[in-house]
Order: sequence, then structure tokens, then C-alpha cells
Amino acid sequence: MIGVLEGEVAMNDSHATQVSRTKWARHAGLSPKVNHSCSPNCGVELNETGACDFVARESISKGDEITFDYAMRNYSIEHFPGGCLCGADICRGSVTGWKDLPAERKAAYEGLVAPYLLEIDRELTNSVA
Ligand SMILES: [Zn+2]
Repeated sequence: MIGVLEGEVAMNDSHATQVSRTKWARHAGLSPKVNHSCSPNCGVELNETGACDFVARESISKGDEITFDYAMRNYSIEHFPGGCLCGADICRGSVTGWKDLPAERKAAYEGLVAPYLLEIDRELTNSVA
């Protein structure tokens, strides 16, 4: 699914998508309808416009809901109300950002997350060392 941005927003909020290390925006079209799962069948790739395209991580059958992990494109998620309702065996219990994912989950998502998340991780690792 091709992502299309409809405009930047001033800061992170419950409907904002992080689109770079320091910017947030809203997606247009069907992208905002794609729900979170802690065991998603899609990941994300940034396209040339800076929007997130959804890319299948596994075979998806006709009629299946496509999902992604919101942590694949947002470093920090602090505005999400209530618990996670994804129903996955490995559900984290709440919708969290990239910074809250365990290392093995980050590894499982390799290649299908927004690159600025990895840049922030590298920067923080270097500043601690
Ligand atoms: Zn969940």
C-alpha cells in the first residue's frame, strides 16, 4: 500500500506519524485506517515523498486485515489511550513506541522500520558510550 502525506503537524499527537527524527505529519488515503498489531503482517518503508508505504512481512490472505506495529515509525508513543487490543499471542499490552521495544522485537522488524528510528538508536548508544 502506497503512503501519501497530507501535511505536517507541529508535534507528536495520537494521530501523528513520525516522518523524520524531528517531524510529524498525517497520512492521507487508506493509511490512517491500518491498525496496530504487536504481531503485524506488514512493515513500513519510507517512499520518496517521506510517507510510509506498507510492505507485507508474510503472506496475507484475501479478507485478512493488514496491520503494522506503530512502533515501526514512531520512536515515542505517549498519547495512545487504553491498552492494546490486537489479540496477538505476543501482545505487549499497550501500544508503545520504538524506544520501548525489546531488542529481539527490533531485530524481527529489521528492514521494515523507518530509518530515522535506527539513527536515533545509534545516536543514543553513542552518547551513552
Ligand atoms: Zn498488542
